[in-house]
Amino acid sequence: MMIVMKEGASEEQIQAVVDRIEKAGANAHVSRGQFVTVIGAVGDADSQVHEAGLELADGVDHVVPIMKPYKLSSLQFKKGERTTIEIDGRKLGGGVFSLIAGPCTVESRDQLFKSGEQCRAAGVPFFRGGAYKPRTSPYSFQGLGVEGLRLLKEAKEEFGMPIVTELMDVRDIDDVLEVADVIQVGARNMQNYNLLTEIGRSGRPALLKRGLSATIEELLMASEYILKEGNQDVMLCERGIRTFEPGYRFTLDLLAIPVLQQLTHLPIVVDPSHAAGRRDLVLPMSLAAAAAGADGIIVETHPDPENAVCDGPQAIVGSEFGDYASQVNRVAEMVGKQLEVISA
Ligand code: PEP
Ligand code: MN
Repeated sequence: MMIVMKEGASEEQIQAVVDRIEKAGANAHVSRGQFVTVIGAVGDADSQVHEAGLELADGVDHVVPIMKPYKLSSLQFKKGERTTIEIDGRKLGGGVFSLIAGPCTVESRDQLFKSGEQCRAAGVPFFRGGAYKPRTSPYSFQGLGVEGLRLLKEAKEEFGMPIVTELMDVRDIDDVLEVADVIQVGARNMQNYNLLTEIGRSGRPALLKRGLSATIEELLMASEYILKEGNQDVMLCERGIRTFEPGYRFTLDLLAIPVLQQLTHLPIVVDPSHAAGRRDLVLPMSLAAAAAGADGIIVETHPDPENAVCDGPQAIVGSEFGDYASQVNRVAEMVGKQLEVISA
């Protein structure tokens, strides 16, 4: 249920509606738009909220049901206004296009700092790197853990790029919160609901990756777990889904970009690296994603991919990253995006 307040409704009137929603046993989520405030009444108690007769409350313009199973992520909830996520003055979404780049995993100070230099030189606003790695094999490198987080913190101080890093296990949340400006939820954890709830409670922006076999609706339902805790800063990430095609790692579902834009106000980021699994496919898929209207691209780059500990074959060679970034940014600009590019 969505309670749309009249233009100029007072704080007291908004609070009175919130109180009535909570009294009816639902949660109230207040979204302040440019002109009107919308209050989402979310929970199992839709009928009680309905009976609370909010249509007649002071300051209320009208009440509409949200027909979709996802509520807070729906485009309807924000009355068509798109969410911009802002971190340290750097934006993503709502018309602003940003690159998120860096190595798959933190390997060493030297590797991380070389990559940081190359990304900064390319004007990249956000730096990525995993300290906890979800690997198919338990015998593969699992990430440097807290040591990796410590190195990421150093890199953040050195290069000033906000950090995007993955949280795999709720037990590590305090350590990750020390450094992550954006908490990445990996594809394999998209439906780890306890993890999503804790990230929601942390209030830290999140990048939620689509599960390998998840539908668009399941992705949106997963985002609700974060949003319902009052954390409004969620980016959705298309990173390829499993199909029968063995020619590449996953099938990048570019249709998800315009389809998600019809359904949700949340920014949409595309990860061409994990879908392609091969460096030569990363640029064409990035250009296509930018052309299709993605709000950002998260991409892997490595100063020396031949010797990378993981995902080397898909990493853009660090020395070529500037060229990659300018080509992708050019396409995003062509489709009307404002670019977030940081001058070195
Ligand atoms: C990653 O970004 O390094 C990663 C492991 O991605 P995904 O969860 O999409 O496989
Ligand atoms: Mn990777």
